[in-house]
Amino acid sequence: MFSVQSREVTDLLRTDLKHLIHPHQPSWATDRVIMVEGQGCRMTDATGREYLDATGGLWLAQIGHGRAQIAEVAAAQMRKLEYFTAFWDFSNDQAIELSERLISLAPERMAKVFFTSGGSEGDDAAIKTARYYHYLNGHPGKNWILSRHTAYHGLAYGGGSATGFADMTEGQGPHLPHVSHLTPPHSYRSHLFDGEDVTDFCVRELEQRIQQIGPENIAAMIGEPIMGVGGFIIPPADYWPRVQQVLRRHDILLIADEVVTAFGRTGSWFASPDLGMDPDIIVTAKGITSGYIPLGAVLMSEQVGQVVTSGHGYPVGYTYSGHPVACAVALKNLDILESEDLLAASRTTGDLLYQLAAPLAEELEIVGEVRHAGMGLALELVTDKETRAPLPQPGLGVADVIRDQTGVIARVSSPTNLVLSPPLIMTEDEAITAVAAVASVLRRVRPDGT
Ligand code: PLP
Repeated sequence: MFSVQSREVTDLLRTDLKHLIHPHQPSWATDRVIMVEGQGCRMTDATGREYLDATGGLWLAQIGHGRAQIAEVAAAQMRKLEYFTAFWDFSNDQAIELSERLISLAPERMAKVFFTSGGSEGDDAAIKTARYYHYLNGHPGKNWILSRHTAYHGLAYGGGSATGFADMTEGQGPHLPHVSHLTPPHSYRSHLFDGEDVTDFCVRELEQRIQQIGPENIAAMIGEPIMGVGGFIIPPADYWPRVQQVLRRHDILLIADEVVTAFGRTGSWFASPDLGMDPDIIVTAKGITSGYIPLGAVLMSEQVGQVVTSGHGYPVGYTYSGHPVACAVALKNLDILESEDLLAASRTTGDLLYQLAAPLAEELEIVGEVRHAGMGLALELVTDKETRAPLPQPGLGVADVIRDQTGVIARVSSPTNLVLSPPLIMTEDEAITAVAAVASVLRRVRPDGT
């Protein structure tokens, strides 16, 4: 049999360019980093070059790469029961156990779990759930979804319509109707708020939008507790509590998209309670398995869960809902997060990352602000601290330069934030290396981006 490992790098590259489509990568960009191995925070590519993973893959490698225990659990589960459906009256022990475990970790009102294969499926399911809930309660017109600009809720059609980046949805419309986007609570971008208090502005805009659409027509608001892809935007402390109050008054459900924030990324199992959210539905994925296998989970309150499973049954389902191998892996991943106290590590190492990075806002003209929660860190890149104008291209290619010159994998998250979201197991030395690499390259970027 042909072994991928034995193929020449040039052949792999040629074949990749010929056949493989990568999300968000244009065909004229022909660089590839072909990963073949990961251990802890260290990655190795097909040429043998080593990297330090400071992005946790894509916000998710909480327990680090290359854990043999996970491989063993997956193999054992495959030998025992690799798959059976969870549709209708079929179930499996791993899905049952994981649902119980998730509810024990989740915010108090969560009572029911529906499994998906990832975040986009979860966001779609959550939107359908909110609409169906109101439909079964006798309000079929209550189907609008409120979201925010620069929100990211995946790229399937439902969640993708709630995603607030025009370039990600351009040319694929019409999208899901009845979705309306609000201003994100991004305090640093103060020009958005005309000098008004951020929360006052956002709550007033929310109230106005609800009146325009009609509260009797709105099913839910979907929001990330902290906006990840949007640049790790941490809202003011009173933002979610006040938004929540308004939603409650109008019987509008709150969907917390915790695909990035749950399972330790911000130092807690779930970020919602820390930010004053009391959601009716929570969407998770990513850190639930640390990326060892695709899995997502949509959690809902007893009330929502009861309503949407009445009648002819919950009308959402995927072949891989409750996949026993994925659920077994998730259970082991949660064991590791717990036994190694990785939520505390997220807070401690996250604080260290912040302490190391924060002085860059004083030192460098192009670093406007440094923000963090747990192991999520963002450096807002600007061309002018006074006007806070975003750093123009080519400065935004800085993550590629950091990777190519230092081997540290960082990311520019839309629109102008350099973001680190490392595995929660990252050591102090690795954290120091990561920030030093970022700083060394940022020191050479001029405010015009060159
Ligand atoms: N929701 C949020 C907040 C995300 O950050 C992501 C992915 O980054 C998604 C949903 C989509 O998840 P997936 O890529 O697993 O479909």
